[in-house]
Amino acid sequence: MSKIVGIDLGTTNSLIGVMEAGFPVLLADRDGQRLTPSVVHYSAPGAEPLVGGAAKRIRGVKPKETVYSVKRFMGRRGSEIAREDMIVTYPVKGQGVDPITIEVHGRDYSPEEVSAEILKKLKADAEAALGETIDRAVVTVPAYFNDAQRNATKKAGELAGMQIERIINEPTAAALAYGLDKLKKRARIAVYDLGGGTFDISILELNDGVFQVLSTNGNTRLGGDDIDAALTDELARRLAEQLKMHVENGLLARLREEAEAAKCRLSFEEKVDIALPFVQGEKSFTTTITREQLEILARPIVEKTRANCLRSLSDAKLKPEELDEVILVGGQTRMPLVFRTVKEIFKREPNTTVNPDEAVALGATIQGGILSGEISNMVLLDITPLSLGIETFGGLMNVIIPRNTTIPTKAGELFTTAVDKQKSMKIHVVQGEREMVKDNWSLGQFEIEFEPAPKGVPRVGVQFEIDANGILSVLARDIKTGHQKVVEMKSAVDVSDSEVEKMVAESVEHAFDDIAERQWIETKIKSGAMLEGTRKALAQVGKSIVDDEVKEIEQLMTNVEHALEKGNLAELHEANAALDKGTVALADLVMDLALQAALERKLK
Ligand code: AMP
Repeated sequence: MSKIVGIDLGTTNSLIGVMEAGFPVLLADRDGQRLTPSVVHYSAPGAEPLVGGAAKRIRGVKPKETVYSVKRFMGRRGSEIAREDMIVTYPVKGQGVDPITIEVHGRDYSPEEVSAEILKKLKADAEAALGETIDRAVVTVPAYFNDAQRNATKKAGELAGMQIERIINEPTAAALAYGLDKLKKRARIAVYDLGGGTFDISILELNDGVFQVLSTNGNTRLGGDDIDAALTDELARRLAEQLKMHVENGLLARLREEAEAAKCRLSFEEKVDIALPFVQGEKSFTTTITREQLEILARPIVEKTRANCLRSLSDAKLKPEELDEVILVGGQTRMPLVFRTVKEIFKREPNTTVNPDEAVALGATIQGGILSGEISNMVLLDITPLSLGIETFGGLMNVIIPRNTTIPTKAGELFTTAVDKQKSMKIHVVQGEREMVKDNWSLGQFEIEFEPAPKGVPRVGVQFEIDANGILSVLARDIKTGHQKVVEMKSAVDVSDSEVEKMVAESVEHAFDDIAERQWIETKIKSGAMLEGTRKALAQVGKSIVDDEVKEIEQLMTNVEHALEKGNLAELHEANAALDKGTVALADLVMDLALQAALERKLK
């Protein structure tokens, strides 16, 4: 079987590895570099782009033609990107439902195409190092990547000429790299991953060599880049003050490089001198940044991870003391402030025995080894970060696969129609934690057709299946005829996304309102059905019922209508119950008449 490489396609840097004689080994490029900056520079229209270190070096002088942090745009539409994220040095296009594109030399590139260039370089470097063709890979993604983002990653791999055998969550890969599978029979591990552009916290449980993700949380827009930006702003402020000049984009890009380099050095040094010669004619810019000053700027950013960690612990129903291990992943965790913050949150010294830049790629490589059969007896289980379900009557979300379910998984439910003579049912697939569909994210929709029948008669089975890559297929089947449709939720245009952590926080914040709204809608639906049923019954029984009784029932119906108008849930409950009770005799009468009619038909 051909080799399966492991790839960490990072926001800032990417890596590739392969199993050699039972060990995961990361491969270097011709310059001996294992860390490939995830930067692509398009030098001229139609020319082969420059990728990696060379592109990163050019970024300062050619900011408009050099694409970095493209992972933030993978599988996303314009409306899903916050304004501040649109501010990069290269032109990003895409408004509303349009997928994001990047315009360079008058051509629009998709984020997948840009990522494919990074993957092509990794593939070529690996082929040169190994002397054989590589066409199969395992690629990692942040735990919070939704279907569209995972699919975009898969597509990037295909564009680069590789079959993506498996997409795995970065924290899960990291735990493998730390060799935690050999820790002891049963252990709980927190993986704190702060990279350049994303933050993930996952709590894993290990049982006899099998990993299961108990909970995940994070922020798809938080990382070392934000600290760089804060330090860049500070440097720009100092420069403007020192040289009494306006800081243009080109200069800002230079300052950004200085800021990142200074930040990294300040992880090991107490202060760093920065000197930028010939900023304005002969004039140079010089300044000193201390670790303390950097920490003041970085603290609010690092602090943001605390809430995610606490939520992840509470989702896993664990106290910090119950964890066996906390591991650090992502280059930004080298910052002493990050180490201290993690230690404080989890009340234990984090494990830093694996290079935090390389842990994810090593884990992906190990997973590649498992898939190609080079390593046995290890299984990886992942979970769904958000609940998945479909829209039901009244705009309510009906959950089919709850949040934090172990994948691969399959679950289904039977649904029926709410209106007479309905010919089809809309299957609107929704992801999120809120009770109302409008507050969740739409993943796509399709129709399943069936023979028209009275309401409540058609039976449509809806089944959700999530494969090992976290990709969702939805099957809808008309039970009567067996007619069915299977739709894979994948394209960036069909799938919308926003921040998972925002969704979870909002669901907690709005829990009471949401439940009240659900109760109101459910009660309202019940009122509608009862009013319609009562009207029909009254018409059916005609003169077989005395006027007084009719009046009484009509009054009860009016009470329901009033309660509906007023929007008072308790009152509506009461009115529904009264109408229910007040129509028992009517229902009996309808039944008697039906029986009588049937009998008469028989006697004829
Ligand atoms: P990753 O996405 O895991 O490659 O992490 C990259 C991020 O880690 C970038 O923001 C880097 O600036 C940051 N980083 C790398 N090395 C260090 C270091 N020694 N100290 C602080 N941050 C670092």
